[in-house]
Order: sequence, then structure tokens, then C-alpha cells
Amino acid sequence: MTKPNRYYDNLEQNLMFFKVLRKTNDFIHANPEKHIYQMGIGDVTLPLCKASIEAMHKAVDEQANKETFHGYTLGAGAPFLRNAVASYYKKRNVELSIDEIFITNGAGEDIGALVDIFDIDNKVLIIDPTYPQYADTNIMDGREIIRLCANEENGFLPLPDPNIKADIIYICSPNNPTGAVYNKQQLKQWVDHANKTGAVIIMDSAYEAFIEDPSLPRSIFEIEGAKTCAIEICSLSKTAGFTGMRCGYTVIPNELARDNRSLNRLWKRNRATKLNGVPYIIQRAAEAVFTDDGMCECMKNIGVYKNNARCIMQTLDKLGIWYCGGVNSPYIWMKCPNNMGSWEFFDYLLNEIQVVTIPGVGFGNGGDGYMRLSSFGDTNEIEKACERLYALLKGI
Ligand code: PLP
Repeated sequence: MTKPNRYYDNLEQNLMFFKVLRKTNDFIHANPEKHIYQMGIGDVTLPLCKASIEAMHKAVDEQANKETFHGYTLGAGAPFLRNAVASYYKKRNVELSIDEIFITNGAGEDIGALVDIFDIDNKVLIIDPTYPQYADTNIMDGREIIRLCANEENGFLPLPDPNIKADIIYICSPNNPTGAVYNKQQLKQWVDHANKTGAVIIMDSAYEAFIEDPSLPRSIFEIEGAKTCAIEICSLSKTAGFTGMRCGYTVIPNELARDNRSLNRLWKRNRATKLNGVPYIIQRAAEAVFTDDGMCECMKNIGVYKNNARCIMQTLDKLGIWYCGGVNSPYIWMKCPNNMGSWEFFDYLLNEIQVVTIPGVGFGNGGDGYMRLSSFGDTNEIEKACERLYALLKGI
């Protein structure tokens, strides 16, 4: 008889996002006259930049003619897009050759797939709370997970603990859900730790475009020594509104080797086997993001989300509630008042003011007592949600 993967039994069965959805839908069902205000949504709400739309129209027309038609693109991505990504890194003085860049169907795909090139015996370090996919994807393979506690004392930015031995280290900066961002000195400590111990860092930079402080690193490869210990996963989902388009890129430096084997070569082999390329039309749209016009328009959209974040932060400031994130990140991580647990506070906000948020505990036990507020919603809705939040919590 076929044996299903037994490690799936170790996964948390009740996915937090579904629970939020179920509770919200139950509320709507019971109170159809009430309006729901979204401050939970991690999806973008503004359209693609014009440059991407024009590039897609052009690419569609190309596909209509024998002379300009494109079939398969390389598993690692079309050279035109890999060149555009290399130029984007160059603006931050990071030199990459295009064979170090892999085009993906979004960061989620590579977070899920990259573990293929690592042995099952590797121990995995996850910062808790954090984006759940890092743990889940390793639990599915049966790897041991070690959790490093992020908390208010360490600014939700824990540093390496020499007593914890791990082989694969996940870092997300700017962080989802906490919005906290490692500075160069802190990231250097992780890089030095990984080089010293032989660990590999998987750096999730999906929110790098939200960093406005020029002193903060937008890529781990801005840190000396990172090319011998890090892989970076990026996404156009939040940078350019590509959540429904699906495109991102992963960087695996040629220098990165373990046990005398190049991880770049293993990944190349993996992609050649498992991916027949990202759609040509999408890659052209992605290329357009990296043009001056494309990037300028994307940054305008990010500016709208940042204004939303400012509105949320000002409300929390007025209320005197502790939070982090928001400035260099689309997420604000707030402490629940009166020592409420995350789900208790979620229910309170939904029932009293119909504001939907994301319970911090859904990102790990270390997130209990906190809430993730997102700036990706509609500006009018966020303003109204903030007014309601203030009115409800000012006396608490
Ligand atoms: N990494 C982080 C930290 C995210 O928050 C998300 C999506 O919200 C992803 C990766 C997945 O991004 P993508 O849409 O590129 O798959």
C-alpha cells in the first residue's frame, strides 16, 4: 500500500489565515448589515505599473507571430530578466553574474523548493515569530526545527546564540510579521556566525523595497562575507504588486559551497529538472519593473502603503500602545492591550469595531499577545479603521 508522507501529521492543521477567514465569514453571516474594515490583509490592493502592462501587451503580440513567438524559457529564467535583476543589485554595489540569479514564480515557490538541495539531517533555525512557510516546508521533509525567540527585549531581532547549533538559518528582514529590520552590524553577526559554523542562511528579502532608511541593508549581499554563506530569496509581489502575476528571483552565489559541493550547481540541476521556466509574458512584465519608469511607479504605490502605515502608527502613538515596524516595512506589530492574548484581541476588534487584524500567535507562540496590522488595504478603509480603533481603545 502507498504510504503518504508521515511528516504531514506534524504540521499545524488549523492554518491561521483560514481561521481568520472563517471567523470573519461567520461574523458577516451573523451580522450582514455590518461593514468589515480590513487591516489584516497581506495582499496588495493597487494595480500594476504602466510599464509592466505595456510590456505584457507587447509580449502578447509577440506570441501572435511566428517570427517573434517564444516557447520555453530557461528553467533559471530569461537572460533579459536576470540581467535586469543584476543591474538592480548593482545599484547597491552588489556585483552578481547572471548565472547566480534564478527567476521564480514568486518567493513562496523557492522557499518551498529550496529545501530539496539540503539533506534531511540538517537542523533548521527559525526565528519565532516569523512567516510560517519556513517551518512548515521543513516539517514536511521531517527536519528538526529549533526556534530562536524574538521578543520586545531584543527588538524582535535576535542575534546568533553560539550555543545553538543549526545548519540552515532562516532570516526575514524586513520581517513578516514584526516589521523589524536588521541593521548592517546585526546582519554581519549572522553572516560571521554562519561562516564560522558552516551554516547556510536563507534570507527572505520579500519586503526589501519598503526600506527607506539608507543605512539599512536591502540585501544580505551588502554584508561582507555573505556570498560564502547565504542564499537570498526576493519577490516582486510586494515591490510591484505581482501577487497575482507570480514572479520573483533567488540569488545563490557561485562561491557558496558546502562539503565541496556548489549549492548554485545543485540548484541549477534542480531547476532544470523541476521548472520549465516562468511564463515569458510575466518575465517581460517583471523586466519592466526594473526600468526607471517602472520602478518610479512602483515606489509611488509603496508610498501609498507607507502613508497607510503612518496613519496606523499615529493612532497607536496617540493611544500609547507599544509597536514596532511600520517605517521600513508594510507591517506594524502591536502589543495587545490589557495583556490580552492574540485571539482574544482579534475577537474583541472584530466584534466591537469590525476591524480584521492578524493574530501574532499565528506566526509562532512567541507572537502571542501581539497583533499584525497591515498597511496594504485601501486608504479610506484604513483611516476609518484607525478612527474606530482609537475610539475603542482610548479608554482601555
Ligand atoms: N516571504 C514573505 C516574508 C512573505 O510575507 C510572503 C508573502 O506574503 C512571501 C515570502 C511569498 O511571496 P510570493 O508572493 O512572492 O510567493
